[in-house]
Amino acid sequence: MDAVVAELVGALPDGVVVTAPDALEKYRFDWTHDATAGTPLAAVRAETAEHVQVTMRWASAHGIPVVPRGAGSGLSGGALAVDGGIVLSTERMRAVEIDTASKVAVVEPGALNVEVKRAAAAEGLWYPPDPSSYEICSIGGNIATSAGGLCCVKYGVTTDYVLGLDVVLADGTLVRLGGKRVKDVAGLPLLKLFVGSEGTLGIVTRATLRLVPAQPPVSTVVATFPTVAAAAAAVMELGRTMRASLVELMDHASINAVEDFQPMGLDRDAGALLLIQSDAPGAARADEVAVAIAACEVSGAKEVFATDDPEEGELFVAARRLHFTAIDTRGAVLPEDVGVPIPQLPALLAAVEEIAARHDVEIPVVAHAGDGNTHPAIIYTAGDEDAERRARLAFDEVMATAIGLGGTITGEHGVGRLKVGSLEAQLGPDVMALTRRVKHALDPQGILNPGAGF
Ligand SMILES: Cc1cc2nc3c(=O)[nH]c(=O)nc-3n(C[C@H](O)[C@H](O)[C@H](O)COP(=O)(O)OP(=O)(O)OC[C@H]3O[C@@H](n4cnc5c(N)ncnc54)[C@H](O)[C@@H]3O)c2cc1C
Repeated sequence: MDAVVAELVGALPDGVVVTAPDALEKYRFDWTHDATAGTPLAAVRAETAEHVQVTMRWASAHGIPVVPRGAGSGLSGGALAVDGGIVLSTERMRAVEIDTASKVAVVEPGALNVEVKRAAAAEGLWYPPDPSSYEICSIGGNIATSAGGLCCVKYGVTTDYVLGLDVVLADGTLVRLGGKRVKDVAGLPLLKLFVGSEGTLGIVTRATLRLVPAQPPVSTVVATFPTVAAAAAAVMELGRTMRASLVELMDHASINAVEDFQPMGLDRDAGALLLIQSDAPGAARADEVAVAIAACEVSGAKEVFATDDPEEGELFVAARRLHFTAIDTRGAVLPEDVGVPIPQLPALLAAVEEIAARHDVEIPVVAHAGDGNTHPAIIYTAGDEDAERRARLAFDEVMATAIGLGGTITGEHGVGRLKVGSLEAQLGPDVMALTRRVKHALDPQGILNPGAGF
């Protein structure tokens, strides 16, 4: 073992640092399985914030890159290992404490989103942010990407729930920002600087998350449409008068990918499917269901179905959640996460169809449609060079199209390593320069997650 790595191993308790090549393999990739992932020198499975501090002091003393890692479910390559660096995994930092009086959860970063939800639910409370991956992603990863999800259309994204953070900086200093206070404007709003910073500015070692009362019962409306454009029109129509708690879209290719993977009884002939939920209290729920049905019908729905049975509704939501798992079985995937102002949703979806046809690639799309946030997934056969070239062209064109429509290259997955090349086209040179100045102030050696984010 190299003497520098031996110094780290010696500074931390037995079993915290992993160096065996076999054991390191699982720390190289995130969900993108991107072949450019590097080979780390070691993985640190920190058990305490102090372990993270020791690691960062060592890394800054030796100028060694550190890739923070939660559960590795990222879809933008943000947690891919880099050659000659180390991976700092939070998988062992899992404590979750619920403070019912303050209505907050105090959470270590490696706790899975579902673990926070369960702990909150046990006290009659709710942690709303719900990425489709909520059973397999960590709160640290959610904070680092400001993860969104299905109910975010009504309840907001991760950043809306972060009240406090402990963050270990590149030099090992631990800063404590915010806390159990609902309102706090003392000093610069540094807390939010770290939310969505993709592990490039510091490592989150503890978070205080806002909780709300449990979600009221939901009713579900499922509608099929002859075209994606008609479904997108329905999203616009219902958004005029209704604040749904979920508005998800699956296009024809996504419906069929899910049915191929696991038959769920979805209509394979539909051009698109919309899934809408209302959790309005009391009689207002029936009113919202009526609004959703009318919006679908007036927009040309083929079939509209409504249910007040939460289990029946959950079956459709489960089908929607299966999308990413289903498409993963069809080939290599370049996952998009582009978002546009909601009126531009029909134009974006039409453009994606056109790009798929022109480059002769399969691009199933699901969308958090009520947020204008879409996930076109560009699928190609690994090892087929021409197919990969066409897929990469399509990937870049989808992002350029979103920017052209006043949108973003990423609504919730982060820039990671996959989308770095398209960021300046969205932000422009002045914002890029400002971003680099902030990075330099916090991490002058550039050791935190180099190559990710910007
Ligand atoms: C099937 C599937 C469905 C998905 N659906 C959604 C969805 O609906 N909405 C959504 O937003 N995302 C979704 N994702 C993407 C992914 O789950 C989220 O981005 C999630 O927030 C990543 O969490 P993680 O713990 O897996 O992070 P990782 O993949 O381990 O890391 C993600 C980023 O966070 C950084 N990071 C991790 N922990 C820390 C920390 N403690 N401090 C600082 N930086 C850190 C990493 O360096 C990296 O840049 C989905 C993924 C899959 C596989």
